[in-house]
Amino acid sequence: MSESTSQLGPTGDSNSIPTVSGVSSDTESSGYVPREVSPGDALLPAPEHVLSTLERDGRRRWIKPKLSMGLWWHRRRIVAYVLMVIFVVVPHIKVWGKPLIRLDITARQFTVFGHTFYPTDTLLLALLMLSAFLTIVFVTAVTGRAWCGWACPQTVYIEFLFRPIDRLFEGTAGKGGHPKKKLPLGLELARLAVYVFLNMFLAHTFLAFFVGPEKLSMWIWSSPSQHPVAFIVMAVTTGLLTYDFYFFREQTCLIACPYGRFQSVMLDRHSMIVAYDYARGEPREKGKRSAGDSKGHCVDCNQCVVVCPTGIDIRNGLQMECINCTQCIDACDTVMDKVGLPQGLIRYSSQDALAHKPKRLIRARTILYPLLLAGVVSGLVYAISTKFGFDARIVREKGAPFTNVERGVISNSFRLKLVNRSDKPEHYTMTIVSPPATLEVIDESRLDLEPGSNSEVPFTVRFSSGQTLGVGNAPLVMEMADSNGHTKRLEFKILGPR
Ligand code: SF4
Ligand code: SF4
Repeated sequence: MSESTSQLGPTGDSNSIPTVSGVSSDTESSGYVPREVSPGDALLPAPEHVLSTLERDGRRRWIKPKLSMGLWWHRRRIVAYVLMVIFVVVPHIKVWGKPLIRLDITARQFTVFGHTFYPTDTLLLALLMLSAFLTIVFVTAVTGRAWCGWACPQTVYIEFLFRPIDRLFEGTAGKGGHPKKKLPLGLELARLAVYVFLNMFLAHTFLAFFVGPEKLSMWIWSSPSQHPVAFIVMAVTTGLLTYDFYFFREQTCLIACPYGRFQSVMLDRHSMIVAYDYARGEPREKGKRSAGDSKGHCVDCNQCVVVCPTGIDIRNGLQMECINCTQCIDACDTVMDKVGLPQGLIRYSSQDALAHKPKRLIRARTILYPLLLAGVVSGLVYAISTKFGFDARIVREKGAPFTNVERGVISNSFRLKLVNRSDKPEHYTMTIVSPPATLEVIDESRLDLEPGSNSEVPFTVRFSSGQTLGVGNAPLVMEMADSNGHTKRLEFKILGPR
């Protein structure tokens, strides 16, 4: 008996791939290759579904899905090409003279939609990340794994860049990979070279998000010895991408991606999924349908299985491995057309809709998530719009609380902690507003700050001892100002003898 555990349908019979008139039963051009297992093989217990790409003896089952060029595939292809272009173009786009997105780690500046965040912008960064997280949770609750099937770079590049290249080399363009066809060594090396070249391009584009296209272009045209770290980052990224797209492939979705694991808590029975209409399809049986017969609409042609890039059978219900790529919808619709049955046996639906329960658009998740998201985004917009150009905080120096400088004159030592949160270099000034006192800044140059940088500025305040007489302390008001005239008042205590 030769079968893959993942191919076991409800009937448990996965090897008999039946035919129906007008519909080819296709195991040859699919990734599904039943393999003879010798009696000596250590087999996993048959009913255990471990991974759709795992043979029962633990070996990897290589998936080379057939291609179904239906309506959804055409739509996804348009989206995929648009996303590929966006990925390449974004590092070059500027908004108000600043990059649209730039994650400059060395300068510790993160620019998103023209707004620059610094590591010291803890609240802003936290709100930004929280809003991204809530968006993912909300979109998943409503549209299921639309991200995986339509927009995830893993799916986009594998399905619409690298698989077409495979088909080109195998001579199966427009059909799908041939599971048994092994390329001659020369061709295989040529395919690998194309992979490395394309991944090198992707790695460079990826790097442009961090360093900008100008610096990247300078690096490209100079010797790697002049920028060894950047060269190593690019080489390692190229290596990892090549490993992923050439070898690891669907395993990333199945065992490495945390999002796939989290989806079970983010989906509910109303979330949109790619689903098989069990009630309409069963009992599945090959052959033609006649009016009034009791057969289900599934003609058991296995086309939905052979096109699946993660090697599952959607008829087994909602599975973690399903990335909602819609290939099984296209394949099944084609079959339905050929056998004269209505399309949509596999379709976008929800678990409750399939069970003929009423649709519930308004539910806890669809109210709570948008409300939370709106709150966080409003907080983010407010925080950005009211963000002050600098932060200033005063702390008292350690040691004696005050010094008698001369008769009737007291001195206190402080440290100003200053952060420039603006996008340009700044010079700051300090002025004592009240009471009358003399300010002495130890090192004036520390009041000059680059964007996003910070400094500590030691200073002393001299005042008449009479100001603290009685209670031993008095409030002092200081005004900080930047070159744009933005001011901030700081109030702290000066200490002296009672
Ligand atoms: S669900 Fe559709 S594609 Fe899949 S076996 Fe049945 S008829 Fe064929
Ligand atoms: S079951 Fe269908 S939608 Fe899910 S991954 Fe397979 S082909 Fe794509």
